[in-house]
Amino acid sequence: MCGERDLDRHWQLLLYADPALVEQFPRSLFFDDDLIWHQQHFGRPGQVASATVLIGSGVLYSMVHHADLVQRIGRFREHKTQIEKQFGGWPWMLLNGALALAIDCGIGTVRTPASRLAMENTDPVRDVQPYLFERVYDRPLAEFPGTVRRGEWWEIDVSAAAAAVVLPTPGQDPMAEEKTVCVMHDVERGFGHRAEDPELARRADETGAESLAAMLTAEASAGVRATYNVVGAFLDDVRGAIERDGHALAFHSFDHSDDGNQLHRCREVDYRLKGYRLPRSRTTSETTDENLAFHNFEWLASGRVPLGTESPVLRDRLVRLPVTLDDFPLYTRRQTYDEWESALLEQVVRSPYTTVGLHDCYAHLWLPRYPELLEKLKSLARPRTLDDVAADVLMGATDYASCRSSRGATKSRMRSAVRSVVNSWRQASARSPAAAIAARSAATRPTSPMSSTTKPMSYRSIRSTIPR
Ligand SMILES: [Zn+2]
Repeated sequence: MCGERDLDRHWQLLLYADPALVEQFPRSLFFDDDLIWHQQHFGRPGQVASATVLIGSGVLYSMVHHADLVQRIGRFREHKTQIEKQFGGWPWMLLNGALALAIDCGIGTVRTPASRLAMENTDPVRDVQPYLFERVYDRPLAEFPGTVRRGEWWEIDVSAAAAAVVLPTPGQDPMAEEKTVCVMHDVERGFGHRAEDPELARRADETGAESLAAMLTAEASAGVRATYNVVGAFLDDVRGAIERDGHALAFHSFDHSDDGNQLHRCREVDYRLKGYRLPRSRTTSETTDENLAFHNFEWLASGRVPLGTESPVLRDRLVRLPVTLDDFPLYTRRQTYDEWESALLEQVVRSPYTTVGLHDCYAHLWLPRYPELLEKLKSLARPRTLDDVAADVLMGATDYASCRSSRGATKSRMRSAVRSVVNSWRQASARSPAAAIAARSAATRPTSPMSSTTKPMSYRSIRSTIPR
């Protein structure tokens, strides 16, 4: 993004509605994948809008402003009027957040793209309406004090704008800490063993569909949500059944090879899946942090040793999710099933976080005992998906601040910092790779937490504080 390759400079600003407003709508609305298309809610209800932020030297860039909840609410006509009424001021709130962040970081200038530049960098296959971009990228800026137009950018003098900024109050959003077990499947059929074990590969190709159906049935009756890392080449054949049961879906490369073109081909299959599971837990010259971030991945699952961590951690804008143990010892016959299961259960008892990796191609070695295993795991820890765990890791690294209302009813909250460019990888790659590095979340803030100054101010009244 803007030619900046240092991932630590990339941030995301997330805007959430106050819980009092969230309660006015069905909770499911905030998790609908068709409505909240960019899926930047991180498991919390009420996410309204987001901006991609780059903290440069002396300049803060705020780009890719969007609000799926408002901009796509036409799909839910029964809520359209209320959503627009409550959250129609989101472009101003985002800008306010960017300015508050700039003040907090001691940055003198904020730049945001003018509508034409934003349109140029939008997926060319989309038929875009200029007035929609003007409403988001030009109108709030034209109203803000201290703003001048420089070429394709709006430039705000932060000190001139400061008086109009509502400074948010830092706060906390506690997260439950529970013993967690993640069941993870590498769904690869014969792709992982074509050369080394053609007989196993042949059998895995033949029985893959049947094994998958049996796993899903066992998980449905145990009420366990798992994570399915699927080889991209046949993702479309299996995703319907997996998603229908509410499991998390991620990529396990495109075809299990290391030909250097796995990430791009995965993204041709799906824009949005958040996770990538490295084949054989091996990093290649392609799967660098920068490339994974560029291709809009939020988490990476791999072995504990290559990741260098026993527990989930955020580093270089990528959540690292270590696979604690997998079913490989069953395949190599280093362990019997009973030995393997005991080791797994002991691990779950011992550790706050365990991820167990299971392969569809080894399903004959564990699937007959799988329903029983799920019950045992469930009795020891809370089963969660890797998407859920990654969302908590990202939120745990996020600064949280709120703007309060004098009337209480319309206060709004902002979460600043964190993570990936919200735009699609395609949007980023439409420009030259050097000019477009996707953003990633931050483990630490570059400066102190946000200002603790609170101004009584309602969400809607922010607009009225801006001189017209
Ligand atoms: Zn594999």
